[in-house]
Amino acid sequence: MSAFVNEPYLDFNKPENAAAARNAWQNVRRDMGKEYDLLIAGERRKSSAKLQSVNPSKSSEIVGVHQKGSEQDARDAVEAAYAYFSIWSDVPVEQRADYLVRIASIIRQRKLEFDAWLVWEAGKTWAEAEADVSEAIDFCEYYARLALKLAKPEPLVQLSGERDEMLYLPLGVGVVIPPWNFPLAIMVGMTTAALVAGNTVVIKPSSETPTIAAKFAEAMLEAGVPPKAFSLVSGSGAAIGDTLVAHPKTRFVSFTGSREVGLHINELAAKTPKGQIWIKRVVAEMGGKDAIVVDRDTDVDQAVQGVVFSAFGYQGQKCSACSRAIVDSAIYDEFLSKLKSKVEALTIGPADQLENYMGPVISARARDTILDYIETGKKEGRLISGGGAAAGDGYFIQPTVIADIDSKARVFQEEIFGPVLAVTKANDFDHALELANDSDYGLTGAVYTNDKAKAEKARRRFFVGNLYINRKCTGAMVGAHPFGGFNMSGTDSKAGGPDYLLQFVQAKSIAEKVS
Ligand code: NAD
Repeated sequence: MSAFVNEPYLDFNKPENAAAARNAWQNVRRDMGKEYDLLIAGERRKSSAKLQSVNPSKSSEIVGVHQKGSEQDARDAVEAAYAYFSIWSDVPVEQRADYLVRIASIIRQRKLEFDAWLVWEAGKTWAEAEADVSEAIDFCEYYARLALKLAKPEPLVQLSGERDEMLYLPLGVGVVIPPWNFPLAIMVGMTTAALVAGNTVVIKPSSETPTIAAKFAEAMLEAGVPPKAFSLVSGSGAAIGDTLVAHPKTRFVSFTGSREVGLHINELAAKTPKGQIWIKRVVAEMGGKDAIVVDRDTDVDQAVQGVVFSAFGYQGQKCSACSRAIVDSAIYDEFLSKLKSKVEALTIGPADQLENYMGPVISARARDTILDYIETGKKEGRLISGGGAAAGDGYFIQPTVIADIDSKARVFQEEIFGPVLAVTKANDFDHALELANDSDYGLTGAVYTNDKAKAEKARRRFFVGNLYINRKCTGAMVGAHPFGGFNMSGTDSKAGGPDYLLQFVQAKSIAEKVS
């Protein structure tokens, strides 16, 4: 295979791409409100109970109607995956890798269509949707190459009179539980990594974004992935999620989502029900409370730009989003005034309209939680911009900045997952790093400084899985920025990095006596 390169993004400022996006939008519109089945090892099933996903930009529009899978459906999916495991794990790795390249190629051909589904269902702007779909393609291409490498491990020390080798074997049935915020990229990454390593999978998509999951399943089938190698079971996270995680035939769980659910899964997976002969592995990537440190010795305009992108891109609904700006007292007032004018220039409205920089938040529940946090923040600090809901038929919230936040404040410590930025004053760079590290989380972080010694200090002391220097803290690229966090941000699995597949295999050492 050729060397891996990241998938280029379409630039929607170009009139021809903008026109193509509008066209894709109209095509996808025809399929709005369609019903999708459960897919259990190739068998299509319906259930009496349904779940609907809606367009967060216009909540009266139904994007897709999905089955609410039952606990029996979940059990059947795990059993079927278990039964097929011995066949799938015997498929040569070259062929499994080839399936991934084919999935990438299908998504690439239908890129604008996939973009459009993300705009409809997840409330992503076109640029954000394009980044999500491109990352999904990257994961397929990257893990395909990684699997081929893993099949040829480093040679071992050869003892005299022996042939010594080590092979990586797949684990078994993996349960894949993605969040709604990168509903394509994260789901595709977790699924294809497990599959290419030789495991079978059961995917339980987020209830907010099941349509994009159905589209991914279509792409896998079109790519020729055997229908029995995976299942797609939509339904209530709590009910079928617990069944899938607790099942004795489940070998590992690959989860990305909130700290609360991740910890619950970790606990449940640690139990060993009757008939289970292994300790389940849990890969759990969870929340963040990411900080950008702005030093006195920096270009303030550049820092403001980076903070605005990181805090308000996709309405702050990224695990990597900047939710704390920690700013040196020497430039604090200048930073705030420049930040205010940039934030107040952000456009907000329906995600499909190309002129909008921000769309809606994902749901009515998310909107209410975020608005509650804004009210708390107003009491904990000084409101600079925003501060409430924005007009429109969807779940719109104004980009909100609250200054003078103390490190003990709730808006400094708790993940809000919306367009809310807390700004805190630091005495100096050391104090800023201390404040940045004052968190249960440790996912992304950035520092803006021209001082090399301070940048070096951040390298050593800023305790995050993904550190960025003089750039925004979002937008990790597959292959270049292996992604995963410390502490309550998760198991630091480093998705899109050279070690990621090791989590889905076990090593077998073989020593053969030779004469
Ligand atoms: P969530 O935890 O509410 O849901 C995640 C998934 O878990 C969904 O598919 C949901 O249906 C499922 N689920 C819910 N209860 C379950 C249960 N009892 N058993 C099994 N599955 C269950 O998270 P969300 O709202 O979808 O996503 C937002 C969160 O994800 C934020 O905290 C964000 O920081 C985090 N996130 C982290 C990363 C990362 O790489 N660290 C990436 C993206 C999102």
